Amino acid sequence: MLKKSRHSLAIGLAFITWSASSVAQVPVSRSLHVQTSSASTSSTATKAATPQASSPPVQAKQLRQLSLELQVGVVIDKAFPDLDNQLISRALENAAKSFQDRFGVTAPRFVVSSTMSVDRFLAKAPVESSERCRKNLQHRYRGTGLSEFSSRRDKAIQFLKRWPLKSLTVFVDAKNPEAKKNYGNLYEYLAKKYVNTVEQLKSARTSTGTPLVEPNKTARRSFAMWFCALSEQTDYDVIITNTFIMADIMTEPHPHAFMGRAKIGGIAGPNQHRKALGRSALLATTFGIDTHIDWLSELSGTPATEAERASILGDYLLAHEIAHAVFGIPDMFDHPSECLMTSRPDETYRQGLKLLQENIGACPRCRKWVKARAYLDKARAELVRDRPKTALRYLARASSRTPKHFHGGYKKRMSQISYLVSQAYQKLKRKKRAKRFAKRALQLDPKSTDAIKLWKVLTSTTGSP
Ligand SMILES: [Zn+2]
Ligand SMILES: [Zn+2]
Repeated sequence: MLKKSRHSLAIGLAFITWSASSVAQVPVSRSLHVQTSSASTSSTATKAATPQASSPPVQAKQLRQLSLELQVGVVIDKAFPDLDNQLISRALENAAKSFQDRFGVTAPRFVVSSTMSVDRFLAKAPVESSERCRKNLQHRYRGTGLSEFSSRRDKAIQFLKRWPLKSLTVFVDAKNPEAKKNYGNLYEYLAKKYVNTVEQLKSARTSTGTPLVEPNKTARRSFAMWFCALSEQTDYDVIITNTFIMADIMTEPHPHAFMGRAKIGGIAGPNQHRKALGRSALLATTFGIDTHIDWLSELSGTPATEAERASILGDYLLAHEIAHAVFGIPDMFDHPSECLMTSRPDETYRQGLKLLQENIGACPRCRKWVKARAYLDKARAELVRDRPKTALRYLARASSRTPKHFHGGYKKRMSQISYLVSQAYQKLKRKKRAKRFAKRALQLDPKSTDAIKLWKVLTSTTGSP
């Protein structure tokens, strides 16, 4: 989710091994078994369980059709410089082109459907009734000091362990070599640095003279709150806003935000109501481009031209968030210069964009996420063509190729795959297997609307579960 503040959500990963077994009537497929939920970052188990060469080779083409039509909502905070339609349409054009060029898939289409105030948008977040909202807001930092962090230490360290330690220590300054030694030390450093940064944010003022953030009084500019609203609203795949959003979920201290300026540039998170991006929605904000507050500006001094604003918003922020949502590529800190997903210490948006423009092409280290998604798309297409056996081959590939460090959650992606496996077996009239994989889809992601519906259908037509 964040680039120096582009943010990325990731909720509790648990790792699952999918093992192959022979399937009499569908010889090239395999069945998938959940074997473990231990949180290891090793990919060895999955590799070992990948089906051996019984499957014919399946090629993922580089230029693929990806039919995405995304509804866009614009959310205006009156305390910050306004957003005009021309900027938005140029930024969306840039995002579409960048996404196509970097990932070798057809460009998404955007439809701007509405502009609204922050109040109206946040009213879409049913904080009281949403379990997700309650959970996130519980871990929201209230700005009272380090003691707020103490009960969140273990979860936060677990979260940081998604990345290799070495890729995180680039955010530690030279005066603190101890912080580079292990995750525990790094976490202590991160928490202290974050608390100090929030103190600075609390004393900052918007151009209308109001406080930038008041975490002890309101969640109005809280990441936990915006994440919640983005997840619960029903109308938009993409939100563009001009507001400031403070990184503040203490159990998920995204390294570049918590060791940076605690500022969110974008979000890609789950949304069970929106299908276009695979039950997710995303957001980007122009705050870092347009703010008058020097130390929060992403422009290192000189104001941006209209073209540059549109490029930062589109090529840099929106394309990055779309890649989180579509491919599940997490935020990275050590990929090469052409990587749209990498954040570097003290790099402004302007510097990051320049580096991207000088290094056209696809990031080789992001390729495995893109390939895994290609197999999933091919499987879907085969199901539409009523070719379930071929679909199962692609699904086997998708399950073994999906990296475990997956933006939005590995279990969720595995649930989507299980759901499609179940559909394939339904087409093959193999009811028991269809039911088994529907159940697995539900176990892997109990909130999945698709899995819930499928399970209901299968259990109502075949009797009790
Ligand atoms: Zn990100
Ligand atoms: Zn990369």
